[in-house]
Amino acid sequence: MSQTVCILGVTGSIGQSTLKILDQHPHDYSVFAVTAYSRIEELSEICKQYKPKIVVVPSHKVDELNTILKSKNITGIEILQGEDGLIAVASHAEIDIVMAAIVGGAGLLPTLAAVKAGKRVLLANKEALVMSGEIMMQAAKDYKALLLPVDSEHNAIFQCLPQNYLQIETNKEPQLGVSQLLLTASGGPFLNHSLEDLRHVTPAQACKHPNWSMGQKISVDSATLMNKGLELIEACHLFSIQEHFVTVVVHPQSIIHSMVQYVDGSTLAQMGNPDMCTPIAHALAWPKRIGTHVPALDIFSHQLNFQVPDVERFPALKLARQAMQSGGLAPAILNAANEVAVEAFLKEKIGFLDIPAVVDHTLNQVENGPAESLEVILKSDQIARLIASQRVVQLST
Ligand code: NDP
Ligand code: MG
Repeated sequence: MSQTVCILGVTGSIGQSTLKILDQHPHDYSVFAVTAYSRIEELSEICKQYKPKIVVVPSHKVDELNTILKSKNITGIEILQGEDGLIAVASHAEIDIVMAAIVGGAGLLPTLAAVKAGKRVLLANKEALVMSGEIMMQAAKDYKALLLPVDSEHNAIFQCLPQNYLQIETNKEPQLGVSQLLLTASGGPFLNHSLEDLRHVTPAQACKHPNWSMGQKISVDSATLMNKGLELIEACHLFSIQEHFVTVVVHPQSIIHSMVQYVDGSTLAQMGNPDMCTPIAHALAWPKRIGTHVPALDIFSHQLNFQVPDVERFPALKLARQAMQSGGLAPAILNAANEVAVEAFLKEKIGFLDIPAVVDHTLNQVENGPAESLEVILKSDQIARLIASQRVVQLST
């Protein structure tokens, strides 16, 4: 029987790759609901092709969407708006699978709503988990949601772990013979830049990732290595282990997507061409495997290299590890400050090296404490955004 899918963030890079996979399996999946934020013309084309029952846009885009849909003679679609609309579709009774692919903290409440509704949740929106870690994981247990990693590294680790790993209580120690997770990082477009070179890089250069085609925010995060920092935190929550069991390995070719080491000396790696369609298809169909257009890896044409990350040139990674060590609200503060700093960098208000500086400043200014409720996390997120914005103003004048 066909399963119904809701794609949160359908106009983005992950949203588009998800549609590509669904195109290949029209009898197994149908698009029930989609959401977008600013790309309304693109959304209308998606509506034309996939005829979802419900779409969600921010309230200030409803009129524009209505006008475009009317002009294209597209009818029979319910339009919901804003955060309430996102939460409503993410938890809708007629939906089986939710792709969480909104970028940033804006995805937290809808993703959590999907988890609390007990859905199969395909998690791309790492910021949501970084912010709410234990609350999200506990909700997945309490509401029997299947929270499956789409982030390529976590998907790779999931593939290399023992099948029943996610079901066991891990006590923050690796179990079932696992000893370390090796989280691979491409190193981004500036892997070999000196500190002086990094001072002058532009948003256009930062968004040009050597191996992956992605949204702007994650592209900048990959360039600062904050993406790997967020992923380190993501891995600790998803696989319920302490941060010192996660080693970051720079692997510039992005062929190995991550590895798991075992106590007997084995290291299992998941490999493939760098294309998000593979982890999306894996999470969509798990434990089954379904076809994608991604060609099989030509193993003869690759040389694989590994190196230790340089946290002096890329301090974001160190900040994220420290935030995870501190625990509590620190990861949410780190994430909020980073979102503000990346946006300011993209608007050319601050330089590339100012991004980790803004995050560091914010972590020092905003009080940490237990992340005991969603309200506390969201409050801390707000304060961190304010402090980070003030720092941006100071740095840009
Ligand atoms: P994009 O920027 O390409 O897409 C983001 C999506 O979120 C768009 O549909 C956008 O709508 C929507 N959106 C943006 N802001 C808001 C908001 N305030 N409220 C509601 N919706 C919003 O990002 P990616 O697809 O690259 O990334 C999505 C998530 O997946 C991120 O968390 C990223 O870290 C993660 N991820 C991405 C990977 C990739 O290869 N791209 C790999 C691994 C993880 P619109 O476009 O209409 O404005
Ligand atoms: Mg990743």
